[in-house]
Amino acid sequence: MYINGEWVDARSGETRVIINPYNQEQIATAAEGNTEDAKLAIQAAREAFDEGSWAKKPANERGEIVYTIGKLIQRDLQEMAEIETLDSGKTLEESIEDMGDIASVFLYFGGLADKDGGEVIESPIPDSESKVVREPVGVCGQITPWNYPLLQAAWKIAPALAAGNTIVLKPSEITPFTSVKVFELMEEAGVPKGVANLVLGPGHNVGAELAESKDVDLISFTGGIATGQKIMQAASTNMKKVALELGGKNPNIVFADADFETAVDQAMNAVFFHAGQVCSAGSRLLVEESLHDDLVEELVKRTKNIKLGDGFAEDTMSGPLISADHRDKVESYVKIGQEEGAKLEVGGARPEDPELQDGFFYLPTIFTNCEHNMRIVQEEVFGPVLTIETFKTEEEAVEKANDTIYGLAGAVFTTDIDKGQRVAGKLRMGTVWINDFHPYFAQAPWGGFKQSGVGRELGKAGLEEYTEVKHVYRNTNPAPVGWFN
Ligand code: NAD
Repeated sequence: MYINGEWVDARSGETRVIINPYNQEQIATAAEGNTEDAKLAIQAAREAFDEGSWAKKPANERGEIVYTIGKLIQRDLQEMAEIETLDSGKTLEESIEDMGDIASVFLYFGGLADKDGGEVIESPIPDSESKVVREPVGVCGQITPWNYPLLQAAWKIAPALAAGNTIVLKPSEITPFTSVKVFELMEEAGVPKGVANLVLGPGHNVGAELAESKDVDLISFTGGIATGQKIMQAASTNMKKVALELGGKNPNIVFADADFETAVDQAMNAVFFHAGQVCSAGSRLLVEESLHDDLVEELVKRTKNIKLGDGFAEDTMSGPLISADHRDKVESYVKIGQEEGAKLEVGGARPEDPELQDGFFYLPTIFTNCEHNMRIVQEEVFGPVLTIETFKTEEEAVEKANDTIYGLAGAVFTTDIDKGQRVAGKLRMGTVWINDFHPYFAQAPWGGFKQSGVGRELGKAGLEEYTEVKHVYRNTNPAPVGWFN
């Protein structure tokens, strides 16, 4: 762990064995912090913020340091991608792509750091000047999940530092190593002591302390809804700002006039990428009735060809699920789907391949005959499980797509551009793709409507999340008002 500019073990001396989900082999041990370590890290971040030199450093200089972190990630990209694949099981190709995206997040926010000089506003009061400026929020607690271990952390670290905050990061306890590596790079880039702190360990103590502590001014969390609710409650202790990136049950709407090859290819990509462990996974396919049979036939055929395996093997298309517990959860949802009357078209079991027996693999699975009120359609499975529903009209497609507590992302496939735009306008989601699935980048905001979250990451909005807005008013001709004469 990295606290107040020092590399330290947990105060208790405890460690956790971290395993490779592909074969359950031990990768290494990690420090296992607890509340005491979290308190020390918060104290370091508090002192560094209150001392003021990071917040008051010219924004272009802070930006340069954040930008340098991005360049260092590019330098060490291959090594970092390999660590991510060992830790998470995702294919090396995916990890390489993640690391490229992560570097670009640091480059983007580094560049953005000095672009907002505030604004002068027209004061309605004579002889006065009014300006609105943005200042850092203070100490930011940041809690991240295991599916995109460093990517989710980068979306928080880069804007927080660019805006002049100090941070305490707690990555998922099962995928800590790329976060450790990025803290090494932050040290190398010149992030001052106490400004960025890393505490490893579980959510119930380290995470909870970050959410509860009165010395933390903002808590940013990416993870599941149930944890998000706990964090929101805990944050009320001192009314800290809350930013939440939660789950999704994302609809992928395919009209009969869509380009067939593109729609099939993207429907696969939408749901099976990273074994479906993606918050924006297109796990709910809504297909126009007349296209249903052809689309299902092709999807089933291609799903059978998905090559599961070691993330380091070149022909692997998808790695394992992250853990035994998570595979149990996915399996239980498949059982629920069957009990609810959905028709299992393919998958629905662990693979029989002897080479995959030590990993947490699950076969890519497709259900048809799905109704929108089924649990398998409404709840986030977070695995390689696709549900397929049909619709007859545009209105029905939109209604079904919006009929969930979530609102993270969605897509529409059609060659009718007006229809695509119309549907995009009606979807209650933070991101809508037309004729594509999954693109996200540092320049565009990311976040959820409804129960998919609070606030935005990435883009200008992602930097603003880490600022407080201040109005400074100046009387340019001071004179007594005489009110109490
Ligand atoms: P999770 O909620 O179980 O855990 C996320 C993090 O919270 C971990 O670091 C965990 O240790 C910590 N945590 C657990 N209990 C806590 C508590 N009481 N107080 C504070 N912290 C606590 O989620 P997960 O299983 O790691 O990740 C999967 C979830 O993340 C899915 O629901 C997925 O949709 C969501 N996710 C969302 C986005 C997005 O951008 N919206 C991105 C990635 C993942």
